[in-house]
Amino acid sequence: MEEFDVIVVGAGVMGSSTAYQLAKRGRKTLLLEQFDFLHHRGSSHGESRTIRATYPEDYYCGMVKESYQMWEEAQSEIGFRVYFKAQQFDMGPADAKSLLSVVATCQNKDVPHQVLNRQQVADKFSGRIDIPDGWIGVSCEHGGVIKPTKAVSMFQTLAFKYGAFLKDNVEVNGITKDAAKGGGVIVSTAGGEKFWGRKCVITAGSWMKKLVKTVSGIELPIQPLETNVCYWRIKEGHESKYAIGNDFPTFASYGKPYIYGTPSLEYPGLIKVAVHGGYPCDPDKRPWGPGLIPDSLKQWIEETFKGLVDSNAPAATQLCVYSMTPDEDFVIDFLGGEFGKDVVIGGGFSGHGFKMAPVIGRILGDLALTGEANGVELKHFRIARFQDNPGGNVKDFEDQVGLLTSSL
Ligand SMILES: Cc1cc2nc3c(=O)[nH]c(=O)nc-3n(C[C@H](O)[C@H](O)[C@H](O)COP(=O)(O)OP(=O)(O)OC[C@H]3O[C@@H](n4cnc5c(N)ncnc54)[C@H](O)[C@@H]3O)c2cc1C
Repeated sequence: MEEFDVIVVGAGVMGSSTAYQLAKRGRKTLLLEQFDFLHHRGSSHGESRTIRATYPEDYYCGMVKESYQMWEEAQSEIGFRVYFKAQQFDMGPADAKSLLSVVATCQNKDVPHQVLNRQQVADKFSGRIDIPDGWIGVSCEHGGVIKPTKAVSMFQTLAFKYGAFLKDNVEVNGITKDAAKGGGVIVSTAGGEKFWGRKCVITAGSWMKKLVKTVSGIELPIQPLETNVCYWRIKEGHESKYAIGNDFPTFASYGKPYIYGTPSLEYPGLIKVAVHGGYPCDPDKRPWGPGLIPDSLKQWIEETFKGLVDSNAPAATQLCVYSMTPDEDFVIDFLGGEFGKDVVIGGGFSGHGFKMAPVIGRILGDLALTGEANGVELKHFRIARFQDNPGGNVKDFEDQVGLLTSSL
């Protein structure tokens, strides 16, 4: 049986970033993926993800700040860009609790920002964005777009460069404690292979609940949701106004539903605008569409972009999966039980984890190697929060994922 310092299960962005961190620290690392590398069946593929420092929960702010720096570092190691700078613009009703929390976080964490009324928003974006009366806008320099598939490929390439072993089309179906050796774990695969690891990190995305139940019996409340991003055609002659190079921001709208998007970048003439939500699914029996394109999204596009973006139907859509926790906070912890601190898990990234992949890889690596995560308060991410408060911690309606139970 081949032996490793750490075996990482799942090569989405979190597993790939973790493998990079571990290999860079000189640890013999194995990264296992059940499908092809860079497949489109999980959460980490596609053309764009938002990075923003504006968070209602202040404990994410430091993690995003550290990630900005780490994205830059990884880029300079690989020699190409995965992060593209933009401003971030949040908007919503002036009394929206979550948006007011964003403003409070910016104040408390020294995130430079401006709170704007309707006229100031129109002035700032030269008439490209309109918000209703009674709404406010929060403008911040710290936004941006990350290219997801390219970023995962970057982490895998860097991990390989630092000596990690990468294997795809290897489904892990068992993790057991190595009782004979008195420490470490044996990772078994559906193909009959076995690997020994001093430590193991599970980053299985939407398959987390299934895999953790199989290996430990623990039921994590992580619900996969099939979701979709939509690209809308900018009307002829106005394309450049909504482009990243023309100072158009990444954005989020804290109304109902919660809407988010990125400036025109990956497909010239198209802008990404989508609803943060989806429908529950089994990641192995996906409906594969049709996705969510509610009338409220079309109306929002028509009004916010003042008729300059065709809101009749998206020009293109892409499907993806979220792995939601009830409180939309991550799960970062030791598996515990008979595994003690030998198995670390990172999952439940609830549709907002990509931007923080560098710091999450660093934290999961720290936990595996030292049993502690430097500089990060993990109490929000512990498994025990679900056991201490079953059925609790669910976000207020205003903050909940839109259209969670919507039928197809
Ligand atoms: C449409 C969409 C938009 C998003 N927008 C943003 C955004 O703007 N900003 C942001 O920060 N975040 C965003 N996110 C969230 C972000 O993309 C995810 O949080 C992140 O990609 C989660 O990565 P992961 O590695 O945990 O999961 P995954 O990418 O799903 O990776 C898990 C991997 O584990 C593998 N695996 C599972 N079980 C096994 C097994 N038994 N054996 C071997 N391998 C296994 C899977 O095949 C998969 O490759 C968005 C997500 C989606 C879907």
